[in-house]
Amino acid sequence: MADPFGFLKYERATPARRPVPLRLRDWNEVYEPFSEPETKVQAARCMDCGIPFCHQGCPLGNLIPEWNELVRTGRWDDASERLHATNNFPEFTGRLCPAPCEGACVLGIGDDPVAIKVVEQQIADRAIADGNALVPHPAAVSTGKKVAVVGSGPAGLAAAQQLARAGHEVVVFERDGRIGGLMRYGIPEFKMDRAVLDARLAQLAAEGVRFITHCAVGIDLSVTDLRRRFNAVVIATGSTVPRELQVQGRRFEGVELAMAYLVQANKVLEGSPPVAALDASGKHVVIIGGGDTGADCYGTALRQGAASVTQLDIHLQPPMTRHASTPWPVYPLLLRSSAAHEEGGRRVFGVNSTSFEGEAGRVTGLHLVEGKRVGSGFIPSAGTETHLQADLVLLALGFVGPERAGLLDDLGIDISDRGTINRDDDYMTNIPGVFVAGDAGRGQSLIVWAIAEGRSAAAGVDAYLSGGSSLPDPLVPTAVALR
Ligand SMILES: Cc1cc2nc3c(=O)[nH]c(=O)nc-3n(C[C@H](O)[C@H](O)[C@H](O)COP(=O)(O)OP(=O)(O)OC[C@H]3O[C@@H](n4cnc5c(N)ncnc54)[C@H](O)[C@@H]3O)c2cc1C
Ligand code: SF4
Repeated sequence: MADPFGFLKYERATPARRPVPLRLRDWNEVYEPFSEPETKVQAARCMDCGIPFCHQGCPLGNLIPEWNELVRTGRWDDASERLHATNNFPEFTGRLCPAPCEGACVLGIGDDPVAIKVVEQQIADRAIADGNALVPHPAAVSTGKKVAVVGSGPAGLAAAQQLARAGHEVVVFERDGRIGGLMRYGIPEFKMDRAVLDARLAQLAAEGVRFITHCAVGIDLSVTDLRRRFNAVVIATGSTVPRELQVQGRRFEGVELAMAYLVQANKVLEGSPPVAALDASGKHVVIIGGGDTGADCYGTALRQGAASVTQLDIHLQPPMTRHASTPWPVYPLLLRSSAAHEEGGRRVFGVNSTSFEGEAGRVTGLHLVEGKRVGSGFIPSAGTETHLQADLVLLALGFVGPERAGLLDDLGIDISDRGTINRDDDYMTNIPGVFVAGDAGRGQSLIVWAIAEGRSAAAGVDAYLSGGSSLPDPLVPTAVALR
């Protein structure tokens, strides 16, 4: 039973961010620690609703009121058990999730929602510090079946952990040099320290998951060999084909894809030599695209010492509070500012880029026009053309689907009209024994959806190999966010 007056007594609070001048000098996470008493107060704001809409908002079906109450009463180990019952990697989502659960929280109808994500991260981090969360749980009995997981992002890792715990022999193939997918080379360190990822990977390895890096399946390992060596395959290759901007000057040097920039920046932190064309130091940086990827470029460019950073968004500036078109419990349309946006630079809304200009093959600027986004088009306002100086332009326009050449084409995988991989109710593709999880099947999405898909796909694989499965299956493939 929750504290019936908690939400009346306490206000929502979240961890403070480190001072901007300090955090711009390093790549450490931006948030200050949050104390145990502060966390308990936030958990005490939960009303333990008869119908907890936070569950509906979370693709994993996280048992939020249960662990809020356990935290309020100081039962941290039990809270961790309840949290890990639905989420393999709460330390990732506690840091990185945009928290659709909070958008659906009943308290949010008339007050600030419960700070669910903060409580989640505190439970996860505490359980890791105590040594409980990362204790390996190897399967007691081996099934003798072998599963290949292709791609090591959150979907592949969740599937791998579930399948290993069910007794299957799991090998994760990753074409990059290190494991983690976008959590390794996309998302910057100031959002999640890589030690957090490495600690969880050590647990998977101790549970028997084998990792093979530098192996692009379909190129370095043929699909014939893949099928011959494994009883089932999970494709978790992400949605990696970038959306392009086909305007004059696109091929100037210095007009780069956001992912090329972020991957290089993350690799430099691992000791790779910087590539001058992809270093923002001293440059006027313009980011085209108003989403998360753009915000990650923004914070990265500021830390690299850019002369200026401007992020362009084709949409008009959203309102500061929930817009009437997105009433509770759907995920609210409102102005979202990431930590990076308070560190400098500027955001410009309601503009479209019409062309780039350059000298000697290098970009020097771009032309913009103000206007309004309508459907997938843009209606320019006459007389609003402007020009921006730019030495580095980063295209952060999203992704259109998984890469087909090699793995998907060679397997003969069916692709939907949306460019994603078709799957049945058990996450199996048109090829028997070949499953799909994460952005490759769903399209560009979030870590929480990828983990949920990995868990459900694992249940599908387990049932296919064993004739039935007791693994949790939180998500039907057609599920979408509340809207
Ligand atoms: C810059 C950026 C920032 C983001 N920030 C957030 C955030 O803060 N919060 C959030 O919830 N979501 C965020 N997202 C979205 C989130 O990262 C993705 O939804 C999630 O990582 C998808 O997981 P996945 O496992 O499906 O694929 P991915 O994480 O994309 O992993 C796919 C992996 O498959 C590998 N691969 C591909 N083809 C092959 C092959 N043939 N053989 C072997 N390996 C292969 C790739 O190298 C990659 O490592 C962000 C996305 C981007 C691009
Ligand atoms: S909807 Fe909000 S208040 Fe209700 S149980 Fe969930 S977190 Fe608690």
